[in-house]
Amino acid sequence: MRNAFLVVGGLLLGASMPGQQPAPEHKWAVVLHGGAGVIERKSMDPKTEADYRAGMQEALNAAAQSLQNGKPALDAVEAAIKLLEDNPLFNAGRGAVFTADGVNELDAAVMDGSTMGAGAVAGVRRTRHPISLARAVMEKSPHVLLVGPGTDQFAAEHSLEQVPPSFFFTERRWQGLVKELEKEGKPTPPRPAGVGPAPAKPVAMLEPAEAHKFGTVGVVALDRQGNIAAGTSTGGLQAKRPGRVGDSPIIGAGTYAANQSCAVSGTGTGEYFIRLTVAREICALVQYEHMPLQAAADEVIQRRLTALKGDGGVIALTPDGQMAWSFNSPGMYRARQSEGGKQQIAIYKDEP
Ligand code: ASP
Repeated sequence: MRNAFLVVGGLLLGASMPGQQPAPEHKWAVVLHGGAGVIERKSMDPKTEADYRAGMQEALNAAAQSLQNGKPALDAVEAAIKLLEDNPLFNAGRGAVFTADGVNELDAAVMDGSTMGAGAVAGVRRTRHPISLARAVMEKSPHVLLVGPGTDQFAAEHSLEQVPPSFFFTERRWQGLVKELEKEGKPTPPRPAGVGPAPAKPVAMLEPAEAHKFGTVGVVALDRQGNIAAGTSTGGLQAKRPGRVGDSPIIGAGTYAANQSCAVSGTGTGEYFIRLTVAREICALVQYEHMPLQAAADEVIQRRLTALKGDGGVIALTPDGQMAWSFNSPGMYRARQSEGGKQQIAIYKDEP
């Protein structure tokens, strides 16, 4: 029997007859980032570089596997981000940067392009996976954004893993904070409870402190049903003022997804991304100006963000499988793959 077809949100989908499995009409795709910043070949040792690439590959594989199995885009986004949150190299979950008070305050958001459901959290201190908490806010509460102590309380009520604040601690980020505060002439806060004394020998900084200004992680995915989703997770900016919230959990600024246009996750100095509503702006250019995704991302990052003297980058994709990234910093940790295609993993500006 011939398939019937139906048009949903401008997409042609094969509709199955009763009793048949719907044939996937879309090739999956995924793009991720691990933060933008001053990342240059000359300041990166080979081992560190290999570790970053391996971390991105692990997350990319997890997302690809989930999409290959026919799972929703949102599942792929969450699976990949959870790995990046657990990886101490990235500024999200374990390995996050500290506030000027020496505390980890974590922000995250997810958005489901098929429903335009969104969930976000800011100022998380005890929940191991802020991305899963953002998803729980979307799926299990009538709200979009929770901040402060209410976030961890909500997580605990929904049985999301709680950890002591020292779980997120890394010596490397702490030393980065100490250096930054010294530079700014500010006092160093006491070491967090439960992390032990400072090591006798200073830890290797891996890269100059500047490189650690960013390091947020984000994933956008397109599933075989033709739905897109976006997620972002971060510790924010190093030595940020306690209570400061960046763009990552602000829907339309650092995170956005709608099947009518595109999915975006950003990284950079959040204050600029919020004022430019970077993520939504890119999708608006796609939706209303019918711009190709790469042109829309470049317009907002290379022109508008740069004109405002903001720095950072984005990853993006559309339901018809266009993938893009754009950044105006010397580098951005980034990776992508589409069904049947090769993996692409890159760090420096001159890599394709
Ligand atoms: N955009 C994040 C923020 O401003 C930082 C980052 O991308 O690393 O909180």
